[in-house]
Amino acid sequence: AEFILGLTGGIGSGKTTVANLFGEQGIELVDADVIAREVVEPGSTGLKAIETHFGSGILQADGSLDRAKLRERIFTNESERLWLNNLLHPMIRQTMLSAAKKSDSDYVILVVPLLFENGLDSLVDRTLVVDISPELQIQRTVKRDNVSEAQIANIIASQISREERLQKADDIIDNRGEIADLREQVNRLHQYYLTLAASKAP
Ligand code: ATP
Repeated sequence: AEFILGLTGGIGSGKTTVANLFGEQGIELVDADVIAREVVEPGSTGLKAIETHFGSGILQADGSLDRAKLRERIFTNESERLWLNNLLHPMIRQTMLSAAKKSDSDYVILVVPLLFENGLDSLVDRTLVVDISPELQIQRTVKRDNVSEAQIANIIASQISREERLQKADDIIDNRGEIADLREQVNRLHQYYLTLAASKAP
């Protein structure tokens, strides 16, 4: 697809739910979380580089990446964290972009939780933010994942603020309401994106 939309929002805002509604309209989705796993799967150049750098102790018995161990290694070591980001971010960026270009739906959506935080908004033609209050983020995520409120509050605090995210957004979906409200907003935006995609097509 020629026209690329970046879909983002804070934890538990409803990105996946919104993405799936666009998917129902036949729009292809490229999920950053899936790609982030692909670039370190067994046999990948990403995993080989990590093994060379950290040693084979960073692998599990089955040869896959030991994520807990890697998290531990970078948690207290800023230069290791930077090394890892410098390795993985360009790979993730490149893989997302080529997946987007390969897709042949009318437009394509990159679903990226940290779109603004990681500067991936520079890859897309337009950004769409799913917005809810922090209170609702906590309520829905606690219900979904059965984790503590404090844990979710910490993650919210580590992400870009709601105000900053909304300020950067080209378009906003308000996900306070019910799924029916969401569907209506998605369908309206979908029609709009079809016209934008048509005017960008070669
Ligand atoms: P994460 O960043 O954690 O991956 P997300 O932004 O992808 O989350 P979803 O998983 O789509 O968010 O939604 C979070 C939870 O809230 C899910 O359990 C989802 O079913 C629920 N949810 C989403 N939208 C609504 C809504 N309008 N009303 C009620 N529940 C909703």
